[in-house]
Amino acid sequence: MQELTHFINGEHVKGTSGRFADVMNPATGEVQAKVPLANKAEMDAAVAAAQAAQPAWAAVNPQRRARVLMKFVDLLHRDMDKLAEALSREHGKTFPDAKGDIQRGLEVAEYCIAAPQMLKGEYTDAAGPGIDIYSMRQPLGVTAGITPFNFPAMIPMWMFAPAIACGNAFILKPSERDPSVPLMLAGLLEEAGLPKGIIQVVNGDKEAVDAILYDPIIQSVGFVGSTPIAEYIYGTGCAQGKRVQCFGGAKNHMIIMPDADLDQAADALVGAGYGAAGERCMAISVAVPVGEETADKLRDKLIPRIEKLKIAPYTAGVDVDYGPVVTAAAKENILRLVQTGVDQGADLVVDGRDFSLQGYEDGFFVGPHLFDRVTKDMDIYKTEIFGPVLSMVRAQSYEEALGLAMDHEYGNGTAIYTRDGDTARDFANRINVGMVGVNVPIPVPLAYHTFGGWKKSAFGDLNQHGPDSFKFYTRTKTVTSRWPSGIKEGGEFHFKQMD
Ligand code: NAD
Repeated sequence: MQELTHFINGEHVKGTSGRFADVMNPATGEVQAKVPLANKAEMDAAVAAAQAAQPAWAAVNPQRRARVLMKFVDLLHRDMDKLAEALSREHGKTFPDAKGDIQRGLEVAEYCIAAPQMLKGEYTDAAGPGIDIYSMRQPLGVTAGITPFNFPAMIPMWMFAPAIACGNAFILKPSERDPSVPLMLAGLLEEAGLPKGIIQVVNGDKEAVDAILYDPIIQSVGFVGSTPIAEYIYGTGCAQGKRVQCFGGAKNHMIIMPDADLDQAADALVGAGYGAAGERCMAISVAVPVGEETADKLRDKLIPRIEKLKIAPYTAGVDVDYGPVVTAAAKENILRLVQTGVDQGADLVVDGRDFSLQGYEDGFFVGPHLFDRVTKDMDIYKTEIFGPVLSMVRAQSYEEALGLAMDHEYGNGTAIYTRDGDTARDFANRINVGMVGVNVPIPVPLAYHTFGGWKKSAFGDLNQHGPDSFKFYTRTKTVTSRWPSGIKEGGEFHFKQMD
């Protein structure tokens, strides 16, 4: 049995806590490795190494720091297939999807190569006689991030690329479900020339997370995962005086107007609803057709598309639509929620409950499900299922459809399908959701914009990547200086007007 490690102070080190978690192969249901779960002493060692290394890294000029990321991007390209293979093996997503996971993180590393430009401060010349004011952005020091299982490459990179570019040290606590790729990424950063201690990976569970939250040296915490844990980390981290940003769960609605191209909308819904087995925070899990006729037609177009989906392990080829879900517990939870949908009266028009794949009976595969006539009070509507389950909620008007998305507690992503510019514009302006697609099902912004939801999908003031990330990983210092007159005329005892 392979025993994974931590990556502390530039070394792959074995866990010393004596606690481990199983890393599964979701396609076969077998345990493929054991990952150590860190205790506080192991986290303390990482923090000490980070604290020792960070001042010298902060003193490296931003252009040289950016060059490390340039090299890192080259290495990601070199090792793309190797990384994607490891990612698919632990997560279960298809090989092309695993490459997409890496690519979307790589693009943030590319964006952060602009650090010299992004970190330029502001300067006011001659704010008063002989007085200049300038603001600079300085790194926070030791920073940390806690990441979910569903994007084990992309989300760590969203955090550590800007953190490092800004001159911080970064400690990553990745998901214990698929820790291999984060460990590989740390190795590549070091190969790219990052000094020891600037990137570290400490594997673990709540114990390691709490060690981060209560550590007095760690200045900031980034979190992506489910909403209850996001709330816990945000509350606890803020109470400890840290800068915290937490991104949580989702229930993303797609509104389909009567004038939409329904073939296009059905294709989009199948990709966005079932891709990655629905284990995406930007997956569409609720389709809201407007009008009974739209709903009937859409349903007729969805059913054959869903029935044609190819569900298989990533090894079965590039035409696989989706693979297994991540654990047996995830599968059980999805099927439990499907049962509540049936019990609460939703119309299960595609039933994937009996799905089984020959030769992979012990894998965590879940067949696709489509519910029609779902209502607001049902558990399948209120809860994030995080599986291949799409719910149709029929709305009688645009206002009713808009109201549904507005009233839901989550506000990560949403989309509208229409040919009418006025409706699309109204929707984009009024909806209380952070990321909006107009005839685009999964509107994940590119690296140079920012990513973040509203309502219970995000906690904190700044989004991930884009310009916000340079703000999150730095603090502003403003200097007012007077040269050369100094104070040779003697001290001043009142605020001077800058005239
Ligand atoms: P999770 O909340 O179970 O775990 C996320 C991280 O928190 C992991 O590193 C885990 O070890 C840690 N953790 C788990 N339980 C903890 C506890 N009790 N105390 C402290 N730390 C704990 O989430 P997951 O299942 O890995 O990921 C899926 C969730 O992430 C979904 O809800 C999905 O919507 C969300 N997600 C959100 C975004 C976003 O940007 N909004 C992106 C990706 C995933």
